[in-house]
Order: sequence, then structure tokens, then C-alpha cells
Amino acid sequence: MSGCAPPAEPVERHGGKTAQRAAERPVSLATARRWGLDKPLAPPPKPPARRTDEAAGPGLPPVVDRVPTDDKVVFLTFDDGAERDPQFVRMVRELQLPVSMFLTDRVVGPGYAHFAELRSVGATVQNHTLDHPYLPGLSYEGQRWEICGQQDKLKERFGIKPRLFRPPYGEYNDDTLRAAADCGISAVVLWRVSMQIDDLRYAGEAGLRPGDIVLAHFRGPAELNGASLTEMTTRMLRRIQAQGFTVARLEDYL
Ligand SMILES: [Zn+2]
Repeated sequence: MSGCAPPAEPVERHGGKTAQRAAERPVSLATARRWGLDKPLAPPPKPPARRTDEAAGPGLPPVVDRVPTDDKVVFLTFDDGAERDPQFVRMVRELQLPVSMFLTDRVVGPGYAHFAELRSVGATVQNHTLDHPYLPGLSYEGQRWEICGQQDKLKERFGIKPRLFRPPYGEYNDDTLRAAADCGISAVVLWRVSMQIDDLRYAGEAGLRPGDIVLAHFRGPAELNGASLTEMTTRMLRRIQAQGFTVARLEDYL
């Protein structure tokens, strides 16, 4: 038999062994309070065995802004990669936050080491294009270059092949979906809820719903009225807890 088949490429599905091990220890009340929470986040329920597989069309990846589930969980996604706050690495590690990072090469620039650190404490890496363009303004080839190009960069940097893709500004067309499929993307991830400086903003019905995907950005004090990335994240987590929700790992559901 042929021994020449290349090994299967690892995909960014879970946070890796570090995160799984860490998740076995509950976060203490003292740790939660140190990060400005009144109590630790509730442990998420066991994720479903079956993943969403509703395709957008023949052979095209599904486009999701919310994951169908009855679990009172929401998913944290952080975009672009501008702010690189070492305190955020500590926060993700200590609170065991399941964070999905949608990275843009041009924004991350020379800062990939920081995101490798975040990955080592349990955050996952996904694709947000090379240059953050308005994709519907590009040809199919242009879009493919943006998406496949970032797949290659992330493979080179982290040795993984992302399965999830988020189009910049949430804007896409049929060519985006075709190109994403061509680049090995299995789902296009939008959001229904976005974190502003102080509060959550909802598209449509107000209030969190089970399976909502929450958009946040790697932003710092200059863009957050003086608040740090960790302070903004604390506010977000408090709003989530106040509505009786906890956070789960997007890649476990999608
Ligand atoms: Zn973006």
C-alpha cells in the first residue's frame, strides 16, 4: 500500500491539549473576581456530537450568525489583530475563555508571536483575509487570493488549516462562498451580536439567544474610550452572565 499520502493537516478545531487540560479545573471565585466578574463563568454543557452542516448552496459552506442550539451559550470571536495586550493572554488563560480569533495578515503584521501565545493558552485561529478588503468589490480571483493567501499564511505561522472564515465587514457575495469553499473553508462566520465599548448591540431581536455569535475586536484604549482590551472583555462577560448565559467554544459547535 502507498505510504506516500501526506499526513492529514491539523485543523483548528479545539484549543489543543493545554486548553482541554485546563478546562478540567474549575476557575476559582478569587480568579473570577480578579478579572472583575462576580462569579466564574458557568462551565458550558457538553457540546453536540453533530456539527451544523447546512450548506449555503451545492458545495458551498454555510453562512452562520448564530448556531442552532438550545444551550444557553454564546461564542466569543475577536477580529483583525491590532491590539496586542499581554494582559489579555493572562485573562484568557486564567478564565479559560474559549476565544476564536479571526486574523487579518496585514493587521497582525509582525505580531504573530502574540497570537501564538494566545493560541497556546486555548484561543483558536481562523481566517479573516490577507488585507481586509470589501470582498464583493473584488473578482472571484481576487477574493480567492485574499482567502487562500491567508490560509497559507496561517498554515505557515501556526501549522494549522483554519476551517472558519469571516469576511471583512460581514460583506460577501456568491464568489466569496465559492472561493472560501475552494480554500478549504467549511463555514462562513458572521455575528448577530457585537460588543461595543460598553455594551452588546444586537442585530434584530434584543437580548442574547442561545448560540449567538458575538463579535469583538482586538482594540485598545485609544479606540475604547481609555478602557483596555481586558476591561472591555470583562464588561462583555458581565453582560453575558447577567442574561444567564455562558461562553462555549465555537469550533465545538460548528
Ligand atoms: Zn475585520
